[in-house]
Parts: sequence; structure tokens; C-alpha cells
Amino acid sequence: MYKFTVERGGRRKTVAVIITPENKIQVKIPRSFPEGKIPHILEKKRRWIEKTFRFNREVRRPYVPKRFLEGERFLFLGSSYGLRFAAGEVSPHIDSQKNLLVYLPEERRPDRDFVQKEVSGWYREQARRVLIPRCAEYARRIRVAMPDIRIKSLTRSWGRCSAAGKISFAWNIVMAPLFIVDYIVVHELCHLQHLNHSPRFWREVAAYSPRFRECREWIRVHQGMLRF
Ligand SMILES: [Zn+2]
Repeated sequence: MYKFTVERGGRRKTVAVIITPENKIQVKIPRSFPEGKIPHILEKKRRWIEKTFRFNREVRRPYVPKRFLEGERFLFLGSSYGLRFAAGEVSPHIDSQKNLLVYLPEERRPDRDFVQKEVSGWYREQARRVLIPRCAEYARRIRVAMPDIRIKSLTRSWGRCSAAGKISFAWNIVMAPLFIVDYIVVHELCHLQHLNHSPRFWREVAAYSPRFRECREWIRVHQGMLRF
């Protein structure tokens, strides 16, 4: 018998079982669905649940909240940089020793909020610098017009494509190696032609990102490391 939480929802027509990276089970059910049926559903999914629990415990890289202390490691395009503080009023940047330098105005002690804001600003700037040329390049190859690009904080996805053809990317995807960033770019650009996850959509993705299965698996394993 598994423990679970229930979310009874609006226009939902089917039952969905979700296992969080922390191995909590969330069950989403239609408005009139009897809760008493859930244990039986979970029992029937036992093999999948146990497999997912094991994956989360043994394979998935854990989420370690950032503390924004000197020496802490930050990922950019798959490489790791040590956070260093210096005095001054310069924008953060990476130095030749692979440090991510954050400047603190004089008299200012390195408080967490200030450092976090500087580091987030730096990531957003890098995201723009990396993503716009990658999108332009893949838009050319896929033969779609270069869309409007937004860099955002997205909690439930890494990228999003609206019906109006606007694409948003989570700023933190630039923590991942470039081949993962490229996969996310290709994925969203292919949504300009197929606004779904149909077999035709995936064939299109495969044409421009042949290792897309490996990329999806990489994201499943490492997503905890791509957050603050
Ligand atoms: Zn998608």
C-alpha cells in the first residue's frame, strides 16, 4: 500500500500518476472519480512505481540547493566553475582560472540575496548569448522563420512554444552541455511545425537532433543539478 496525495481537477478526463524526484506519489483524477479506486490503480502499477523509485534513489543526481558561498561550484555549458568574490562594481564574469567572479560593492558583506541576484543575472545574460545564435542556426536548418525568443524562469519545463509561435526557454538550461541545449532548441523549433508530441513531431526532432533519446535521458538523470 503506497502513500499518495490527490489532486482533483477541473477538466481532467483521465487518471495520471506522477512520481516526484523525492519519490512522492501524486495522483491526478477527474472531478467525479472515486478516490477509493486509487490504491488498486497503484497496485497495478507496482512494477513501474518500484522501477521509478529505484531510478530516483540510485541513478538520478540529487538536487542540492545552492548557498552562494565562495568556492561553491556552478555549471555552465556542462563545465564547472568555482564561485569567487572580489571587491568592485563590475559585472560577474568567468576568469582564466575557471572561476565565476562576483563583485561586491565595497563595505558590502557577501550576503546571499545579493550574490544570488548577480549570479542569476549572469546566467540570464549567458542564456541570451548562447540561445539566440543556436536558435538562428537551427531555424535556418529546419527552414522555419526565427521566432520571438524569451528567456524566463520556467518551473515545469525547459522550453515552451505557444500557439502564436513564441518560444520561451528556461535560463538555467545553459547549465547543461551544449548538445543538451541544442536538443531543447530543436525540440521547441520543431513545435513551430507540430504543436504536439506526435510521432511526426519526434521524426522531425530526430532529423536535427539524432541523439534526442540520449538527451532526454540525460535531462531525466541530471535535472536536479540544473537548478539553484
Ligand atoms: Zn515539447
